[in-house]
Amino acid sequence: MKNIIIFGAPGSGKGTYSAKIVEKYGMGHISTGDVLRGEIKNGTELGKIAKGYIDNGQLIPDELMIDILAKTYDAQPAGKGVIFDGFPRTIAQAEALKKMLAERNTEMGIMVELDVDADILMKRLLNRAIEQGRADDNEETIKKRFEVYRTQTAPLIEWFEKEGIRHTFSAKQYPGIDDMINAISAVIDAENK
Ligand code: AMP
Repeated sequence: MKNIIIFGAPGSGKGTYSAKIVEKYGMGHISTGDVLRGEIKNGTELGKIAKGYIDNGQLIPDELMIDILAKTYDAQPAGKGVIFDGFPRTIAQAEALKKMLAERNTEMGIMVELDVDADILMKRLLNRAIEQGRADDNEETIKKRFEVYRTQTAPLIEWFEKEGIRHTFSAKQYPGIDDMINAISAVIDAENK
């Protein structure tokens, strides 16, 4: 099973679609946001450092994040393929991921880009704030996260294009969750033939 990188702006549905892909294909799943929120909940040193960045809508520094990712990856069961959710978010992270996987005789596999209009993203995130009470889902922090996405993360789209693994799924083309998951599954199945 090839690895998958699920990519998109905050609120684009990375978590939702990752869960569906994991359920369907039995892959491993690494959500760096979930890893960091777990550290905060457990009151670890890492959690204390991470909280400052997350509450402010900023990215955790690359070196720290790359280290966390490698440790989390190495704790996954081998051979099933992993879906990376929320990583990489910078070019440096992408380069590090590519290198880390090559050192482990595997590769990035498939990049799944979720393309959703900005007005829908904001509505979803504000809604999630009410439903899940995430500290970073308030309007001010959301705006900062969008800006961070635009300046630091979106340039990765071209990077993945050059790697030849980019597959884009537009919410306009696939408005329902089932439509979207069917389209993504078709690419996963074709890539794993
Ligand atoms: P997420 O749950 O993926 O939206 O992530 C929530 C927050 O965790 C982000 O706004 C960042 O502050 C932090 N975070 C998650 N993944 C990364 C990453 N790959 N690099 C840096 N910061 C991250």
